[in-house]
Amino acid sequence: MQKYLLSKKVAYKRVNFKKKYLKNKLRMITGKNYIGNKLSAKGNKTFTTFNPELNQENESVFTEATTEEINEAVSLATKAYKEYSKISGTKKAAFLNAIADEILALDDVLIKTYCSESGLPEGRANGERGRTVGQLRGFANLIAAGSWVDATIDKGDATREPQPKPDIRKLNFPLGPVVVFGASNFPLAFSTAGGDTAAALAAGCPVLVKSHPMHAGTGELIATAVIKAAEKTKMPNGVFSNLNSSGIEVGQKLVSNSGVKAVGFTGSIKGGRALYDLAAKREEPIPVFAEMGSINPVVLLPKALQNRAVNIATIYAGSITVGTGQFCTNPGLLLGIKSEGLTTFVHTLSEEIVKINPSVMLHPNIKKGYLNNKEKVVSQKGVSVTANFTEDVKANYAQQAVVTVNGSEFLKNTTLHLEVFGPFSMVVQCENEAELENVIDHLEGQLTGTIIADDNELENHTNIVNALQNRVGRIIFNGVPTGVEVCESMVHGGPYPASTDSRFTAVGVGSIKRWVRPFSYQDWPNNLLPDELKNENPLGILRSIDGKKSTEKIN
Ligand code: NAP
Repeated sequence: MQKYLLSKKVAYKRVNFKKKYLKNKLRMITGKNYIGNKLSAKGNKTFTTFNPELNQENESVFTEATTEEINEAVSLATKAYKEYSKISGTKKAAFLNAIADEILALDDVLIKTYCSESGLPEGRANGERGRTVGQLRGFANLIAAGSWVDATIDKGDATREPQPKPDIRKLNFPLGPVVVFGASNFPLAFSTAGGDTAAALAAGCPVLVKSHPMHAGTGELIATAVIKAAEKTKMPNGVFSNLNSSGIEVGQKLVSNSGVKAVGFTGSIKGGRALYDLAAKREEPIPVFAEMGSINPVVLLPKALQNRAVNIATIYAGSITVGTGQFCTNPGLLLGIKSEGLTTFVHTLSEEIVKINPSVMLHPNIKKGYLNNKEKVVSQKGVSVTANFTEDVKANYAQQAVVTVNGSEFLKNTTLHLEVFGPFSMVVQCENEAELENVIDHLEGQLTGTIIADDNELENHTNIVNALQNRVGRIIFNGVPTGVEVCESMVHGGPYPASTDSRFTAVGVGSIKRWVRPFSYQDWPNNLLPDELKNENPLGILRSIDGKKSTEKIN
């Protein structure tokens, strides 16, 4: 008994120690901006983050960056660029790996802060941290290997007639300081040291993060990890800054600043488009790579519906509600041709979706947006609500819904194409295949398109496949669009408004290409060329030499 009491006492002490330790660690959040390596809070505009699960404000107070601090951060980034753009791939790789290590070292404090600022569960926090660290290490491997610069060499020929041929050598060169706008729905993987930041740092561009106000504490912790890594690996001061804001002004000032050379954004169409227009109006326009809205159409082909409508509907009830529907790849639009199979699908989906327990949204403002947009769509002519979770839910929890509309109404009314960010989906019931194709042709650009089909069914609907290919960045066969694999072949982008430039992806190492420009050296002395282009190929990278890919030296 005594032994039992003793071990209980020890366990109690341990828990208390852990609580105290966490509390102390949480005090790591200062609420200040990082202007390069220095913490700074010169302004007087402050704000707090919000715990949507507890429906209360979090403790830490954040100070918005002033114009003076913004200008100082950009000026440091401009100076840092001169050195950082020339740093070797292996040194930059060490920096990215050190960021990953420092993020992992944040341990519980990061996870707790993430959950308290987003309402997202611990499992999701751990998963997203793993993805963030994986992305950083993936870019580190890419730049350490070196071939990503696309070194291309056309050897000169002094004997060519009538004109000698010059020696031309090309590689990818970093654009300059990049502003990254963190996303509300991915506090780690698409925010402070998320995909955009990792890709820009890998390319050789300093990064200025416009921290997302909904998870400013998570942002500051990650910024601390980046700064520590920068200091440990001796990166120039200004290679990274983190700026707080509770409104749009800080972002606008950053994008308008002439020292900034490109922008990465994930969020709403309204926000992304405003920043794109602002950047285009500058004396020196700059690229804005914005990943914005998408309703991710899912085409349900007739045979599949005839054979397994119930199974498909059950899977989709899960996909629509996962993460409270707060994914850019959420299936918000389900398209089919009127049939018994489609009726069974709608019926089962409506039954299954209301069985799922509602979950919390990221922030009261996101919930407000969900309710407003849902109401806007539901109140349109021809829309029927087939499922609506009507029981009372806790504050900031979202009630899932499914609606239906005819193909002809959908074609007439573009309000029905609105992204309802949350656990919501619309089934469009088309009269026939021609109407289905017409509906797809009239969709705005999308991140993904999915086709649910039975054996040999795709071959009989190539018109539908082709129509979908024209509107989306990624096409999925017999799956769900939620879940974006981070790999080299992934395309996470698509025709406008899914993204502002459909030629690039926001996920995977290929996203590095957004932050570089091609640059040529003509007849440049070999010893003054970057290593990637030198005759000796000291890095041993894969290059294109007179049209042939090889790792060979040039004699
Ligand atoms: P957001 O409102 O577009 O904001 C994203 C970031 O951009 C925030 O830091 C915001 O600053 C800034 N911003 C927005 N408009 C701006 C402007 N005109 N000028 C300068 N900066 C601007 O997106 P969100 O906060 O992530 O979520 C809001 C809504 O966006 C959601 O309800 C959802 O509809 C949509 N969303 C879509 C996706 C998607 O992948 N499709 C992902 C996330 C969100 P402040 O917050 O400081 O104002």
